[in-house]
Amino acid sequence: MSVWLEITLHFQLVSGLHITGERMELWTDKSLVLDWREEKHPVIPATTLKGWLRDGAERTLRGLGVDTCDSSSATTICGVCPACEVFGSPWQRSPLRFFDAELTNIPRDVRMSVSLSRHRKTAYEERLFSLEVAWGSIWAAKVQGLFPKSDKAEQAAALLWASARMGYAIGAARSRGLGWVCLKEFRATVDGKPCEDNKALAETLKALTSNPKGGAR
Ligand SMILES: [Zn+2]
Repeated sequence: MSVWLEITLHFQLVSGLHITGERMELWTDKSLVLDWREEKHPVIPATTLKGWLRDGAERTLRGLGVDTCDSSSATTICGVCPACEVFGSPWQRSPLRFFDAELTNIPRDVRMSVSLSRHRKTAYEERLFSLEVAWGSIWAAKVQGLFPKSDKAEQAAALLWASARMGYAIGAARSRGLGWVCLKEFRATVDGKPCEDNKALAETLKALTSNPKGGAR
């Protein structure tokens, strides 16, 4: 019988955030992506959130000595490591569904930036651009998933918990100091039963990593 995993993550934005949208805005070269319904609130799209959490999960697993692929390129996705099992691969869909995270009631402004030449470490001429930035607030992300067994759901929860706690920056312009977040609260339930105790999550993660192919089918 399948089990239902439901996770809510609360993050504090500790810097400005920028994720480029496709919206045209007067005087702004790179505007923020907004919610598609009302175009009122900046959002962190589900795909950005998933990619960011996957990156954190891969770093976590590698740090624990587990053979994990690198999803930054489609050609290096293996399809058998624990990250692939939780986040999916070209051969198997992820059992998880990620949702857009809305950043409501937060201030936005536009800052000017200069493109730098990586090569010469100098500013490109005429490469001044304006970047719309969203500022500090608590925001929530939601993830749901259907798993064949509760131990798989608990492993996925533990991996997402560890990944979210890594606290790497999310979005664009990270090298300019944007996108820093800090996990404030992690809530997870498997078929309505809470599995959000830090100690239990750490144990689950340990069990997963002590069997490096534990994620493989
Ligand atoms: Zn993999």
